[in-house]
Amino acid sequence: MDQKSVWIGTNWKMNKGPAEAIAAARAFSNFHLPEGVRCFLTPPATSLRDVCSVLQDTPVMVGAQNMFWEDSGAWTGEISAPMVAECGASTVLLGHSERRQHFGETDWTVNRKVRAALRHGLRPLICIGDTADEFEFGVSQETLARQTKIALHGVSQEDLGRVVVIYEPVWAIGSAGRPAEAPFVSEIHTKLRGVVQGVVGRNSSVRIPLLYGGSVSQANICDYVALPDVDGVLVGRAGWDPADFIKLVSRV
Ligand code: PGA
Repeated sequence: MDQKSVWIGTNWKMNKGPAEAIAAARAFSNFHLPEGVRCFLTPPATSLRDVCSVLQDTPVMVGAQNMFWEDSGAWTGEISAPMVAECGASTVLLGHSERRQHFGETDWTVNRKVRAALRHGLRPLICIGDTADEFEFGVSQETLARQTKIALHGVSQEDLGRVVVIYEPVWAIGSAGRPAEAPFVSEIHTKLRGVVQGVVGRNSSVRIPLLYGGSVSQANICDYVALPDVDGVLVGRAGWDPADFIKLVSRV
């Protein structure tokens, strides 16, 4: 492994209630992360506090899968950044394509959530991604630039140093998806690097980690991690079993 930090996370999505989540988290409690690897898990909200308790003295970061931008109030069904932080989480996934597709998340709501997360000391893991149509019509770059710029709008230099951006093509996610080819991811990430550099400023020393996600597996993880502008991966299905996830982590 070279000198760059490698990020690897698994998004449990709507899987693992408290009992199963605690058992899964225990599998990581004595886990020695390889040097330079930064690892995170995002359990469902109902399991967040328990998973944070199990992993509190470990280097494994725990995050929510979503949150709202207001701190409290009449927002039935929502959870806020202070609530996520109080559970012991250090990070939060924002703008996942499943939230954008099924729950009306927009670039503007993602931006409000990013700023709320940062205000409360949480690290936002911002997901961006092109749809199959956008890919087909050759406008992936435009979509990703727009999503990134809006998500990061109004974020201070200092806070930009705590942000992670994850490229997850919508067409690559889930059992109906096909993993993006490594050369394509390389091209996208190189352009994305230019976009984020434009946001942070050419002379800034801030380097926002850029991760790839979408059908990452034991078979392809090394292809992505080896790319110069890929700082890690977000894994769904292939990481839900803790033993499988540990195997993936030891490969990067
Ligand atoms: P997948 O999910 O690895 O199961 O395709 C990735 C994600 O949605 O983050």
